[in-house]
Amino acid sequence: MSRLEKLCKGGVFLAAGDDYRKSRRVLLGVPLDHTTSFRAGTREGPGAIRTASYCLEEYSIFSGKDLRDVCFFDAGDLPLPPGGTEESLRMIEEAVTEILQDEKIPLLLGGEHLLTLGALRAVSRFYDGLAVVQLDAHADLRPEYLGVAHTHASVMNHIKRELAPEIFQFGIRSATAEEVAFARENTRFYPFQVLQPLQEALPLLKGRPVYLSLDIDVADPAYAPGTGAPEPGGITSSELLEAAVLLGGLQLVGMDIVEVCPPYDPSGITAMLAAKVIRELILARL
Ligand code: MN
Ligand code: MN
Repeated sequence: MSRLEKLCKGGVFLAAGDDYRKSRRVLLGVPLDHTTSFRAGTREGPGAIRTASYCLEEYSIFSGKDLRDVCFFDAGDLPLPPGGTEESLRMIEEAVTEILQDEKIPLLLGGEHLLTLGALRAVSRFYDGLAVVQLDAHADLRPEYLGVAHTHASVMNHIKRELAPEIFQFGIRSATAEEVAFARENTRFYPFQVLQPLQEALPLLKGRPVYLSLDIDVADPAYAPGTGAPEPGGITSSELLEAAVLLGGLQLVGMDIVEVCPPYDPSGITAMLAAKVIRELILARL
């Protein structure tokens, strides 16, 4: 049993196996919920996504593939210290490093978006020429939020300045004027739409390592109400699934799906959408 297996606990995603060594993809719950600015509750995200996964078929009608034919592992949730944001980021970095050292692909279940900073501190050490693809309603490019540097509203700013990957932002429909100016200078910025600009950007993403960071609030609150900072005017759930299938064709070296907030998801459809996207990403490129 690896250190990671001993460290983590919790249930497992639909059809996850129990052989870490044979698994190419490793799911890891990251119940980070420290800096959400409007409504808290993302710490319950990983558990809700796993529960929702059991309403899905193992078979994907999109790809014609079946989760039962894939060896993947669900490591459960990282036991993050209450209130310890920097220590949590360090633990996330360490866990992701371990997964990458074992030549596996981490798929993190959030948790709030700040976790991506910890994950990318690890991933950027392993891969040169890394592209980060962010699907999000928000740019997350503030230098700080109410005097705090590391928050879910500033995570992409710090990733760019600290780690300097090429960042592709899709579906952004909420930002300050300063964030838009920062984006124009520092990221490939595709506001409002996802599918059409993603198709245009695919040639820039093919043949290089890609980290996918998917903030569930990129979907319209009509389809994904269970999130901390809902932003009207987003894409549909079917567009998000189509985008996931397209992204699945790339060389994904790490992924996260963040900001699912179960207290605001009474019907469970947000967690269900997240689970369905994750199924497609587990099945991608097999
Ligand atoms: Mn967002
Ligand atoms: Mn975000």
